[in-house]
Amino acid sequence: MKNDPTRGVLELPEGHKKVLLHSCCAPCSGEVMEAIRASGIEYTIFFYNPNIHPREEYELRKSENIRFAEKHGVPFVDADYDTDNWFERAKGLEWEPERGARCTMCFDMRFERTALYAHEHGFHVITSCLGISRWKNMEQINESGVRAASRYPGMSYWTYNWRKKGGAARMIEISKRENFYQQEYCGCIYSLRDTNKWRLANGREKIVRGVKFYGMEGSAAEGEPDRGASDGCPQT
Ligand code: SF4
Repeated sequence: MKNDPTRGVLELPEGHKKVLLHSCCAPCSGEVMEAIRASGIEYTIFFYNPNIHPREEYELRKSENIRFAEKHGVPFVDADYDTDNWFERAKGLEWEPERGARCTMCFDMRFERTALYAHEHGFHVITSCLGISRWKNMEQINESGVRAASRYPGMSYWTYNWRKKGGAARMIEISKRENFYQQEYCGCIYSLRDTNKWRLANGREKIVRGVKFYGMEGSAAEGEPDRGASDGCPQT
């Protein structure tokens, strides 16, 4: 694949040649996958997102990610949907605002599993596409990633800023080109609750899951649209 010249050539930390990419969904990972691939870096996708609620939404987001991985011939690791553990760790954090302590827990949990898999399968570098969305706090994500990687000697978390050099715009372009499913809330039951609450307070309809795809009429046009109270992937 020809690289977009604005991306530049990416290099992994410490001269490593392969990376385990934690992915949350197809829209967030599309540009990241194409950028990594265009730089000739070997990678595997690790899909571990027990935060996504309900199950149908989880399956839909995952199937979209698998569809794109298969198109590129990229190995895809489908990890557990261990929601009991996620809800256990979320106890007491149910009313935390987005970008708050619940989200730190959510990133920690997902990256801890990513780092464990990396350790057991010979990866020395891990990263995530979570930070490409402007709704996310990049520093918060990077801190969780670095914390998870530090559990294993010789492992590092690649803190590359995927939004830079046109990355954020390409994320939307690729999502439209591929007609990815356009999720409308970050993922957990609490983000669904809070996004709906914000929408109703602002005269909008509640979220209807599973019906919106990039490229359809009324979907994101020039960039990530306003999601109101919600945070997360490049949806709504
Ligand atoms: S809002 Fe998003 S990042 Fe935060 S806890 Fe919920 S799913 Fe996780």
